[in-house]
Amino acid sequence: MPDKPVAPQLTGPQIRDALQQFLNEGGSDLGEAGGKVVELLTQGNVQMMHPGYFGLFNPSPTFPGIVADLITATLNPQLATWSHAPAAVEIEAFTIAEVGGWIGWGADETAGHFTSGGSEANYTAVLAALTRSCPSFASKGARALTGQPRLYASMESHLAWLKIAHQAGIGRDAVCLVSTDGKGRMDVGQLEAMIENDRRAGEVPFLICATAGTTNAGMIDPLQVMSDVARRYSCWFHVDAAWGGAALIDPEMHAYFNGIAASDSVTIDAHKWLSVPMGAGMFLCRDNALLRRTFDVTASYMPAHAVEGVDPYTHSAQWSRRFIGLKLFLSLAVLGRSGYRDHIRRTCSLAEYLRRQLVADHWRILNESPLGVVCFAPPDDRIPLGDIAAAVVERGRSWISAARFEGKEVLRACITGHSSREAHVDRLIEDLRTARSDASA
Ligand SMILES: *Cc1c(COP(=O)(O)O)cnc(C)c1O
Repeated sequence: MPDKPVAPQLTGPQIRDALQQFLNEGGSDLGEAGGKVVELLTQGNVQMMHPGYFGLFNPSPTFPGIVADLITATLNPQLATWSHAPAAVEIEAFTIAEVGGWIGWGADETAGHFTSGGSEANYTAVLAALTRSCPSFASKGARALTGQPRLYASMESHLAWLKIAHQAGIGRDAVCLVSTDGKGRMDVGQLEAMIENDRRAGEVPFLICATAGTTNAGMIDPLQVMSDVARRYSCWFHVDAAWGGAALIDPEMHAYFNGIAASDSVTIDAHKWLSVPMGAGMFLCRDNALLRRTFDVTASYMPAHAVEGVDPYTHSAQWSRRFIGLKLFLSLAVLGRSGYRDHIRRTCSLAEYLRRQLVADHWRILNESPLGVVCFAPPDDRIPLGDIAAAVVERGRSWISAARFEGKEVLRACITGHSSREAHVDRLIEDLRTARSDASA
């Protein structure tokens, strides 16, 4: 993989043409068809396994995670009910409790479940918060609310909040984007002012969403202060730590997440920095009874409610449920907590190495994240950053992107992959230097 281009080499028509050879009346040999699929995917894909992929948290998957997916696909347990898959349901509950421990919650108080990803977990937070704040929301929906519902997230938050509000039936206007402090963290003064205003106008603030590791810049909102605000205004407090939350496995990183244990719920993706194959998110909370009030339904064709454990279909958005959690469970079992801690530390120090090399090469660093994502720009503001990113990707050795941080265009490189080393960062620096001088020529 390191010697292959990191970016796709095939055009849409080339891919569609290639597909014509697959389907015929008689079928074909698995080795042959599978081989062709692998060829197509290695040429027509941004390569997550590539050590020069400094992209969007998509992992180079752990080998135990890959094996876990094969086991899952083969035994194909149905996790809707406990009674159909007691071992698998218990493995997931055990793993969720382990991750709850990273947050600072006891195993007995941690509830939650695996999700398709961070978006589903954040969606679950919205439904749980609405169900708690308004008991008749379950039966009457948004009409039960006494006014316009409001949830608060920062302008630098992950904007899936907009479609989540749409999906949940409260509408996109329910999302209030709070300004940030110039460094990518929520401005809590502004948050309080907005809540006060909204309350005076008869609206219904019900949820405060902190981001712990913004997608663009890895910034962490002031969690402790936000949790105090949430308590003061009787709002649910959710922490979206979709990618940054992986760092909680390292006690040395806890100081950055101070206040997370006081939250009502947390999102952590296993398919980002914890490096298991997609899709694997987690919704963690401490109110199992509320999850049941939010998702419970009884159907005559389903086995009777579990007496020994929790039926996932009565506590989560999904019904038929794939065994998502095995990827993380088996990776943890093989790597150990220390293996994961080393992975977190190695990627963070590689990001530090990247920062140093960038500064030495006269780039400006624009974010101050303790996590593995670096936003940077050339000394000269007039060079179009999109062109630089495209030229680097074109070269085939590294993948980075352009993004916006605090209203400014930036280049963005994230280091969460376990195969990247200093030599790959050096190649990125080289390609950036070439792209910059070409663009300013
Ligand atoms: C990636 C991300 C999400 C969305 O998670 P998916 O797994 O892509 O659904 C939400 N919030 C943050 C902060 C993210 O980085």
